[in-house]
Amino acid sequence: MLSTIALDTQVLRPGLCTGCGACQGLCPYWGSVNGRTVCFFDCERADGRCQRFCPRMPTDLDALRKTFFPAETILPEIGPFLGLYLTRAADPSIRAGAQHGGSVTALLELALKEGLLDAAVLTRSQGGLNPEGVLVTGAEEVRACSGSSFQVPPTLAVLNRALKEDRYHRIGVVGTPCKTLAVYKMKANPLPENDNHAGNIGLVLGLFCGWGLDWDGLKALTSRHAAPERVSHMDIPPSKYHSLELREGGETVSVNLDEVTPLVRSGCRYCADMTAEFADLSVGGARSADGWDVDKGWNQIIVRSEKGRQLLDLAREKGVLEFKDAMEGGLEKLKKASLGKKRTAVKNLREHTGSEEDLGYLNPSRPLFEEL
Ligand SMILES: Cc1cc2nc3c(=O)[nH]c(=O)nc-3n(C[C@H](O)[C@H](O)[C@H](O)COP(=O)(O)OP(=O)(O)OC[C@H]3O[C@@H](n4cnc5c(N)ncnc54)[C@H](O)[C@@H]3O)c2cc1C
Repeated sequence: MLSTIALDTQVLRPGLCTGCGACQGLCPYWGSVNGRTVCFFDCERADGRCQRFCPRMPTDLDALRKTFFPAETILPEIGPFLGLYLTRAADPSIRAGAQHGGSVTALLELALKEGLLDAAVLTRSQGGLNPEGVLVTGAEEVRACSGSSFQVPPTLAVLNRALKEDRYHRIGVVGTPCKTLAVYKMKANPLPENDNHAGNIGLVLGLFCGWGLDWDGLKALTSRHAAPERVSHMDIPPSKYHSLELREGGETVSVNLDEVTPLVRSGCRYCADMTAEFADLSVGGARSADGWDVDKGWNQIIVRSEKGRQLLDLAREKGVLEFKDAMEGGLEKLKKASLGKKRTAVKNLREHTGSEEDLGYLNPSRPLFEEL
């Protein structure tokens, strides 16, 4: 039997926590301060949703995948796969405020408008800083959440509270891979005697993710290069640029990535998922032969479930998204990048545990990683 303290000793203290917030919003014991998960009081409970939902507690990824996705759709490198598309929001005003092509914002607006969702749990930030999880119900609020924050707030605390309240019955969630894995652990409802209303989760939109950054560190870095209150956008271009871009007013300030990588959250070093494999649709920046100047205005979308496919088809039918041909070899490139992240995570976990055989929280899924 797990003890709640296990979350402290197995995840928090060893530096595996991603800050996703899956352990929060359930009880008064767990919270977050400046992106750091904090256990406010010791808890002696032998069982609890906090540790059951945590994406860094041992998880049988294979069994979880097969619960939600047909086995024949699962590709070892990138997970469930029904198709890869290059898209962007047809509405230029969405694109103007978005991280890349605005596909996430456009799809959420459409899903709310069509009644496929009645609420969504999103992240709102000020130009990428001071992010917070929010529950939204209307298109304007969705738009106010456009753009990416690399600080990674405990958004899932908001989801836990919304599920507990049981007021909305088709809630969408947008999250990085750690968050969407936690959401599928919630959907699997490991404590059936304790209904967590996970049936109210309507649609999961995953974001590709390389890593998230330390809150204080990113704030300090931003202040060294720009006036933080004037920064409207941050992005990480493809690796050959080796930079973090800050948009300050009309200018783009380029920060050498060597200054950024020491700020990567330690929990991200152990993440084996680049493409948010647990999701209905997973969305990232486009990679095409056109190059970064064009690509940064587009997204690549992996369709993973029938629900995801239906929403993308509706977006095409209603003219909400524009599509262009995916780059030849694009899927292979994506698989290669995703595999690279998995191999790095396995290497870091072996170093962390001090054993070739011990993959820590990935132990129950060890055969999946041996295949790679
Ligand atoms: C920490 C992080 C790392 C990323 N790394 C990569 C990468 O390596 N490669 C890549 O291709 N793409 C990466 N992305 C995804 C990318 O930045 C865009 O989110 C994605 O391409 C969708 O673009 P869009 O224009 O459709 O998004 P938009 O239409 O602007 O919508 C963005 C949505 O993301 C949500 N959001 C913003 N910040 C967070 C957060 N911290 N946690 C959860 N949700 C959030 C908002 O709620 C909003 O709804 C990363 C995103 C994050 C948050």
